[in-house]
Amino acid sequence: MSDSPDICWFRRDLRVADQPALIGSDGSPTLSVFVVDRRPLASAGPRRRALLARHLRALDDELRSLGGELVVLEGDPVEVIPQLARDVGSRTVRWNADVSGYAQRRDSAVAAALEGSGVGSEVHWGTLVHAPGTVVARSTGRVQRVFTPFSRAWSSTERAPWPDGPPRPVRIGSVRGGDPTRLLGVDPDDPKMVGIPGGEIAAEDRLRTWVQHVDGYPDRRDIPADDEGTSHLSSDLRFGTLSPRHVVDVVGTGTEGRAAFVRQLAWRDWYAHLLAEQPELAHSAMKPAMDRVVWRDDPEGLEAWCVGQTGYPIVDAGMRQLARTGWMHNRVRMITASFLVKDLLVDWRLGEAHFRRELLDAEVSQNAGNWQWVAGTGPDAAPYFRIFNPIAQGRRFDPDGEYVRRWVPELAGIDGRRVHAPWELGPLDLAAAGVTLGEDYPWPIVDHAAARERTLAAYAAAAATGDAAGGR
Ligand SMILES: Cc1cc2nc3c(=O)[nH]c(=O)nc-3n(C[C@H](O)[C@H](O)[C@H](O)COP(=O)(O)OP(=O)(O)OC[C@H]3O[C@@H](n4cnc5c(N)ncnc54)[C@H](O)[C@@H]3O)c2cc1C
Repeated sequence: MSDSPDICWFRRDLRVADQPALIGSDGSPTLSVFVVDRRPLASAGPRRRALLARHLRALDDELRSLGGELVVLEGDPVEVIPQLARDVGSRTVRWNADVSGYAQRRDSAVAAALEGSGVGSEVHWGTLVHAPGTVVARSTGRVQRVFTPFSRAWSSTERAPWPDGPPRPVRIGSVRGGDPTRLLGVDPDDPKMVGIPGGEIAAEDRLRTWVQHVDGYPDRRDIPADDEGTSHLSSDLRFGTLSPRHVVDVVGTGTEGRAAFVRQLAWRDWYAHLLAEQPELAHSAMKPAMDRVVWRDDPEGLEAWCVGQTGYPIVDAGMRQLARTGWMHNRVRMITASFLVKDLLVDWRLGEAHFRRELLDAEVSQNAGNWQWVAGTGPDAAPYFRIFNPIAQGRRFDPDGEYVRRWVPELAGIDGRRVHAPWELGPLDLAAAGVTLGEDYPWPIVDHAAARERTLAAYAAAAATGDAAGGR
């Protein structure tokens, strides 16, 4: 152990508890830093930046209670981190690695620059249950392209130990950081931006509340109107205000509901491991033939989808929930994404970019992985010819229409499941509900049956040009 401080470079691990990069392997005192890096932030909307600012403030409070503080700097980490290490005489900089192509390139460049200054780097994987590369198919040494065998191996893989011991955060008078609120250009206290308190203590409360509901997960997780049907922990996992291992340990697998929930965390690791191995999955189809689908250029359709004005109530409800809260229920993410890709035949990458901007929990691995799954272009995806019918999906998963009426108030006068297809109502029923189609609420912007045929033809044409079924 040395007395010159190590540096913990915080990124998507904004907690003190169960944080391997904060503790490090030799228990040295540690200076904590977060770098506001404009490049990845460019794709984050104001809500995600506001939540980030909240979490940074709470992390600073936590570190101060332990005798440290969070120094927030701005700039290119490749310059900022080695400069800070030189300024305070650090021997080691520690961080939790990340999987995107950008993160991998950046981290290699930082490590190389540190090495050039005689500073070591220590890399952990505190944002995932298992590190990429540790859950692989024995036959290929690569990540499984099918989820079930991955999940089996994931469950039986032993956890690599994380450093243990009390964190020793320090404050160094000569090092001055900036104000995260100003650097991020947001007001973290604006309740319209974010509806949840920041920081790991609040996140732990959310986890404890969820544990009271988790046993109902298998029956309730697909019902978007049920606010307690899923955990809403995704943004805590995304920002690292919760450690994924801690979540698994607190929930356990003792009941069907608990096991089903923990399985979702295996999906999360899976998409991260796949992207770590193949960073181009963020923008290229895993099934190469699927990059030959001829997408439609439809700016009006894309805009109607973004603002929730497609005329398909379940789609519009989901897109408005996203716009208003920064979160959308998983079932509805699948329905809305499928609508963009399969009904409008718009490139999944445009939808992925919109979600990445708007979602509080957006991260490239999860977002691109799931978009590819829905588009039928990615790993273990549903075959492309299985196309969601937005009306049937609405009737099945929102059987009383409660979710639609909550987010599409202009349809609030239409009761029950009829709300999923207002154009099927007679003029008297529509008048009684106070709805004039084309005025209060749009006619469907596309005919689902015709759109389905158009999409099947486009995908079939792409598939015919190559082996659409086989992954790489
Ligand atoms: C088109 C599309 C885009 C998506 N983009 C993202 C994204 O950017 N970030 C993100 O975290 N999730 C994404 N998801 C996955 C999923 O919708 C969210 O993780 C989930 O809705 C978050 O709500 P929850 O925490 O209540 O989930 P729960 O049902 O309580 O699940 C618990 C946790 O398991 C993980 N999980 C659940 N479902 C999935 C899944 N399908 N894939 C990977 N991990 C999962 C999440 O970490 C989640 O918090 C996307 C899904 C779709 C269909």
